[in-house]
Amino acid sequence: MKKIVKLLVMTMFLLILAAGCSKKDSADTSLEDIIAKGNLILGLDDAFPPMGFKDDNQEIVGFDIDVAREVCKRMGVELKIQPISWDAKELELSTKNIDCIWNGMTYNEDRAKSMTLTMPYMKNTQVAVVLADSSINTLKDLAGKTVVIQNGSTASDAIDANKEFKDSLKDLVKVDDNVQALLDLKVSGSDAVVMDEVVARYYTEKEAGTYKVLDETLANEDYVVGFRKGDKSLCKEVEKHLKEMAADGTLAKISETWFGKDLTTVK
Ligand code: GLN
Repeated sequence: MKKIVKLLVMTMFLLILAAGCSKKDSADTSLEDIIAKGNLILGLDDAFPPMGFKDDNQEIVGFDIDVAREVCKRMGVELKIQPISWDAKELELSTKNIDCIWNGMTYNEDRAKSMTLTMPYMKNTQVAVVLADSSINTLKDLAGKTVVIQNGSTASDAIDANKEFKDSLKDLVKVDDNVQALLDLKVSGSDAVVMDEVVARYYTEKEAGTYKVLDETLANEDYVVGFRKGDKSLCKEVEKHLKEMAADGTLAKISETWFGKDLTTVK
């Protein structure tokens, strides 16, 4: 009799444990949901070359796109691409218009609070870009000048972190994307754009002789992929594939196509 009671207690205990686990699983169905719907919707600012941008055929291409496409292939789902306004990215994610933000997104504490983030996959710096024929050569030369940045971008964090530089500026103007910021520099009389180095280098090469990037940098950053807060199983799955792609050389190969060398930092 005692044995039966013991067995019963054990079974109940196991049942409670099992219920606990499945409860935990049902709280985060992010990976199951993606597999069930068969696609992952990637949100991006499509004016952010070479990470993700519209090419001459109006097709969205880039380093992040190639990496995301390969991750999706390995997950057995289709990659869907959804251009968004960078300033609205958190809203686009929480309203489920997109499943992730995968577009040279810099890690910062606010984003770590409002999203579930992967490990860093690439480094970046924030730099100041001026016209090639400008007499501005240092951050100090920008005292009393107008600087343009992208709305919702970590260029703003970088400037906040350099108080002396920030206080020296005449004006800080925010626009929707970096293409517009660079256009402002060419035609509307602003003096510099503070932006991601990877993007700045792309434009200085593409439009040779038009821009120059100042040597001093304003911030060192890490790029991560962002998911809805709590979408941990999906985030872990993407991380798993990124690590495998680092190990089998796929990440390095994609980096070489876009940057001529391996800039990835996934171990
Ligand atoms: N790295 C910058 C940020 O995270 C800009 C990214 C982008 O516009 N795609 O805010």
